Amino acid sequence: MKTILVTGGAGYIGSHACKALATAGYLPVAYDNLVYGHERAVQWGPLERGDLLDRDRLAAVVAQYRPAAVMHFAAYAYVGESVGDPGKYYHNNVTGSLALLQTMCAHGIDKLVFSSTCATYGNPVHAVLDESHPQAPINPYGQSKLMVETMLRDFDRAHALRAIALRYFNAAGADLEGVIGEDHDPETHLIPLALGAAAGKREPLAVFGTDYPTADGTCIRDYIHVQDLADAHVSALQALEQGAPSGAYNLGTGEGRSVKEVLDAIEKVTGISVPHVFGDRREGDPARLVADAALFQRAFGWRPQHSDLPTIIRSAWQWLNRTAS
Ligand code: UDP
Repeated sequence: MKTILVTGGAGYIGSHACKALATAGYLPVAYDNLVYGHERAVQWGPLERGDLLDRDRLAAVVAQYRPAAVMHFAAYAYVGESVGDPGKYYHNNVTGSLALLQTMCAHGIDKLVFSSTCATYGNPVHAVLDESHPQAPINPYGQSKLMVETMLRDFDRAHALRAIALRYFNAAGADLEGVIGEDHDPETHLIPLALGAAAGKREPLAVFGTDYPTADGTCIRDYIHVQDLADAHVSALQALEQGAPSGAYNLGTGEGRSVKEVLDAIEKVTGISVPHVFGDRREGDPARLVADAALFQRAFGWRPQHSDLPTIIRSAWQWLNRTAS
């Protein structure tokens, strides 16, 4: 059985990737400092507690397991916090990734799947974003991910380390079997906040802006089920194993949904009208972020299977009810 090192394997997307790897016949080794990750989310292979910035610890884990490849999720991901504390983001996300790449080179590991983001594009200049859209991040979080993408290109040229960077749009939902799910503290994402409000466990949802130039005035996003994301990572890994070159790909569905559409879908799935208030715009939120998701689909034959809103919401609702009891 091939071993894959999964940095951030105790986090939201990393833990779903571990499950998908195990389903595909790999042994995922989660490397996580547990700052935001959860020990209970690591169920498909060992958990090695450690920080990417601890080079000795990282090297020891790599020497012990001799992974065939790495999936790299470990990063801080709060956009607002990154604006107030950019050093934290550059230190952890950029320097930590550099330590990982250098450790990989030192141990002869030459395949990486990298968790990137549509935040590397910044403010959209086209309605639908394809991979050739200019990358001009508007916050340190997006900038830190773009810096890693840049490093990946340089490490490929210099050291033949092949990497596929996946630029996610809005990851959402939870494992369809209800075993793992989204568990952020603090939580900032629309769907868990809205479901929490519906369950009476959180404040009424503040809808951030109703005067956007969209059909109903609220922001439009491209929501992709976390299990589809996880499967896409496995597809990318398998492609690298078969010799695919480095590249960067959007991961989304190509379909945009407004905040109001999400609230309507929640009411249909749960039977509960989400308590909400209409608030001001949140700084830095573009009106519309929708992927042109065709490139990844064409290259790897992957298709989203679970990314319709009802399935996303049903799985997140199941997870919320499981964890809130
Ligand atoms: N949103 C909202 N209220 C909230 C959180 C989010 O109206 O409490 C909106 C936000 O403006 C955006 C969409 O929901 O248009 C998705 O936001 P989220 O934070 O989930 O993801 P982002 O698109 O910022 O990565």
